Order: sequence, then C-alpha cells, then structure tokens
Amino acid sequence: MTRRWIIAWLALGSLVTGVRAAATGDTPALQRFAFTEPHMGTLFQIVLFAPEASAAQAAASAAFARIAELNRLFSDYDPDSEVSRLSRAPVGTPVKISPELAELLQRSQTVARQSEGAFDVTLGPMVRQWREARKTGLLPDPTAREEARQATGHRYLQLDPVTSTVVLARAGMRIDLGGIAKGYAADEALAVMKRRGLPRAMVAASGDLALGDPPPGKSGWTVEIAPFGRASDIPLTLVVANAGISTSGDTEQAVEIGGVRYSHIVDPATGLGLTKPVAVSVIARDATTSDALATACSVADGLVIERLIAAQTDAVRILHHQPRSDGSVERTLYGRDPAGLVSRL
Ligand code: AMP
Ligand code: MG
Repeated sequence: MTRRWIIAWLALGSLVTGVRAAATGDTPALQRFAFTEPHMGTLFQIVLFAPEASAAQAAASAAFARIAELNRLFSDYDPDSEVSRLSRAPVGTPVKISPELAELLQRSQTVARQSEGAFDVTLGPMVRQWREARKTGLLPDPTAREEARQATGHRYLQLDPVTSTVVLARAGMRIDLGGIAKGYAADEALAVMKRRGLPRAMVAASGDLALGDPPPGKSGWTVEIAPFGRASDIPLTLVVANAGISTSGDTEQAVEIGGVRYSHIVDPATGLGLTKPVAVSVIARDATTSDALATACSVADGLVIERLIAAQTDAVRILHHQPRSDGSVERTLYGRDPAGLVSRL
C-alpha cells in the first residue's frame, strides 16, 4: 500500500469520547481499550469497548491478523502478494483470484464506472511513475507517460465474478489498490471484532475510519474533520456510528515540482498528481465505499460527483473542500446523510 502518515484531518486523539461506561441492565460495565499496529504502510488504530482486557486484546489481535492477511493479498509493495502476481500474469490469460480480491476488484470496477474513470485501480503504472517523480523531483518524460497511459484503463481489467477470474487485456498493466484497500481492511477488522461479540469498536487507518456501534451511553463516535490539517482551521465535528468515513486529497504527501504542488492522487487525464488543492471527506455505509469515493471525488468534478452519488444504492455524504485565497476553506456538500451520520448535516 501507499505509505501514508497519520494525518491531522481526522483527529484520532479526540475521536472517542466517554472512556468508561456505566453498567446498563444486566450487562457488565464496558471499558475502553485502544491498540495501534503498523500495517499497509501506515498505523492502524483500534478502539473498542469490552468487559475485560483479555477479550479486548484477543479481538484486537484477531483484527490486526486479518489486516495483515489482507495486506498479503493487496500490497503492491510486496512482490509476492496476490495482486503483484496478478500484475505479472501473461496478457489476456484468465487468472484465478481469491474471494477477497474478487470482491475488492468488483467494488473498484463499480466505482471506476460510476466515477467515469476518475477512480481506477489500473492506474498502477502511472502511480508507480508518480511515486518515482515524487522521490526524484523530476516529472516523467512524455514517452514514459505515454507508455504508462497505454497500460492503464479499467475497461482492460476484465473480472468474472462467477468464476473469480481476471484477465488483464493490455501489456504492462499493474493493479494499485491504494485508494480502496485500507478502507476494506478497516471494515474487515471491524467485522472480526463484531463476530467476537464486541461491536462497539472502531478502526482508523490514517484517512480511513470504520465505525461500529457507538461507545456505551453515546449515540455515536465523535469525529473531527479538519481537511487540510491546519491548526488554524476550525474542525467540523460529526457524530457517527456504523459507517465509514474517509478523507482524501491534498495531503502531507503532496510534492512541489517546478513550482507546482501535486497531490499523491493521480489524475488519469494527465498521468501526474492532481494539481487542484482539494480535500474530500466522505461518509458512507462502510469504509470500503468511503475510501474509494473520497479518492474518486478528489479527481472528479461537480457534475461527475452528482452522477456518482445518484448511482449509489445507499445515501452518501460528500464534503468537498477547497482553500479560498484568503486562507479560509470553502466547503461544498453533495449527497444525503447516510443512516450512520447521527449529527445531520
Ligand atoms: P487515497 O489516499 O485513499 O485517496 O488513495 C490514494 C492512493 O490511491 C494513491 O497513493 C495510489 O496508490 C492510489 N491512486 C492514486 N490515484 C488514484 C486514482 N485516480 N484512482 C484510484 N487509485 C488511485
Ligand atoms: Mg481512498
């Protein structure tokens, strides 16, 4: 996965209110536990409420183990991951893939179509070039950019969900799941804890949050959104439960080349990082959805965002932020509040 640092956008420190809950009815008092582990090039934080430490520890360990397992499937940094092996498969040959990769690719392809290509996991060759450019401070030359363009396009990734097979129809294609995999891993980790009877939990992976049932005595988890991570901006405080929240866009990972500031998100139209200073937060039914849509809506313009929202089966709320010349932030709201957004917008 793409290396990402903990960002100030979602103020994790103040994420959870209510440390210890009183006993309700005949249920034992729940205590708050927090765990952090590095996975997928970032830090995953788990907060959960459990009757005692050993149950909390066991659930968090199982959740982290699931994230590690998914990283072995989805990482494009690991040459032995399932997705890296798929990217090396001969052109035009069907490759059998795991159920998890099939699900993630299917969801990725849906967002690719709905966003009219703004979100595209086949941008791997461009992402790779762009990562190199960020390191060297040199833009890729036109020949290399054209080569990368020839090897991308979600239409050339043909997924058969019935047989769980994928065909990569162009030479040099590479899959990069960096825009969706952390949200998926956070959702899966949350599901692990729920299956163990601990649904009052949340998983945070830098810009992506999967939120389960609220802390005891609360109607939701308190999440602060400060899209550009600037101390001077007043954060928007949301109360959310059983939902995903992601923020994407103009991050600390931006790079300046030749006086132009580029984001780590690739604009499929240019093969280079986005140059518009946007930051997008999405609240959706789960973190897989919010992760993909936040990346998509960083690239897409307003009309495409409207069509993308109209194509969703569940309500989604998109918060599109742009800095004004006076330093303040202009926020445009799209969509409808999903069921999990307790504090309505
Ligand atoms: P996120 O921070 O969730 O917006 O994801 C950004 C990461 O997604 C990048 O570091 C790349 O790995 C990948 N990526 C970059 N541009 C795109 C794009 N237009 N569509 C899908 N994935 C992208
Ligand atoms: Mg994303």
